Amino acid sequence: MTEPIADLCALTIAGSDSGGGAGIQADLKTFAAHRVHGLSAIAALTAQHTRGVSAVHVPDVGFLRAQIDACFEDFAIGAVKLGMLADARVIAAVAEALERHRPAHVVLDPVMVATSGARLLAADALDALRGRLLPLATLITPNLPEAALLLGEPIGDAEAMRAALAGLHRLGARGVLLKGGHLPGGGEVTDLFSAGGEVLAFAHPRLHVEGHGTGCTLASAVAANLCRGLGLADSCRAAADYVHAALRGGYRPGRGDVAVLDHF
Ligand code: PLP
Repeated sequence: MTEPIADLCALTIAGSDSGGGAGIQADLKTFAAHRVHGLSAIAALTAQHTRGVSAVHVPDVGFLRAQIDACFEDFAIGAVKLGMLADARVIAAVAEALERHRPAHVVLDPVMVATSGARLLAADALDALRGRLLPLATLITPNLPEAALLLGEPIGDAEAMRAALAGLHRLGARGVLLKGGHLPGGGEVTDLFSAGGEVLAFAHPRLHVEGHGTGCTLASAVAANLCRGLGLADSCRAAADYVHAALRGGYRPGRGDVAVLDHF
C-alpha cells in the first residue's frame, strides 16, 4: 500500500541544476519519493549538464527572502534542507530567515565544489558557512573534502574521519553525518553519524559508478525522514540506504559518464 503523504512539508533552499540530476531538482524528487510535499526557495541557478556547469546566476537576496517567507507563511514545515548557497550574502540572508522562522530541523549540506570541479560556493564564504549556518543546523552532511575545508586539515583515513567528526562538533555542529565515499579503496563506503553521543557507522558496498546529485539526495532524504517523524539517527540511516538503492538504479540521461539517481 502507498504511504500517506506526510503531515509536514519539507523546504529546500538550494541551487537549481538545469540537468535535473542534482540541486533543487534532486531534492524535490527525493521529497516526492518519500511522500513528503516539497517546497523550494531557489538560492542560485546553474546552467549545467552531465559534463559540467557552464554558468551560475545568483538572484537578488531580497527575492530569495520572499520565496522563503512565502513558504513559511502558508505551510507547516517540518524540516529545511540547505544546499548550494553560492556566496556569503546568500548565507547571511538564509541565516537571518532561519532565525526568524525557527524551523524544527535544518539539514545543512555544505555544498562547495561539484564533482565536475565547478565551484558552487565562493571561496570567501567559508567563514560565513561555519560561523552563521553551522550553529543553526540540526545536522550537517559534509563529504570528506568539505569537512577538510571546514576543519582546515586533510582527512586521509578512517581514523582521521573519526577525529574529524569530533572536530566538527567542536566547531558547533550538533549532528554530523560525515560521508566516507571519498576515502580511497575498500569494498565498502562507510558514513559516520554522531549527535554528540555514540558514533554510528552506516556501511554499504561500494558501487563503481560516478553518481551526480548523491549529496543533495542524501540531505533531502534525511529532511524528508524527519518530516515523517523519524529520529535523527534513524533518518540518517534510512537516507544512506535510500541513496545506495537510488544509485544502484542510476541511469545516464546525458552524454557524460555521470549517473543520475533513480528515485522511483
Ligand atoms: N549543482 C547543484 C545545483 C548542486 O547543488 C550540486 C550539489 O550539491 C551539484 C550541482 C553537484 O552535484 P554532484 O557533485 O553530485 O555532481
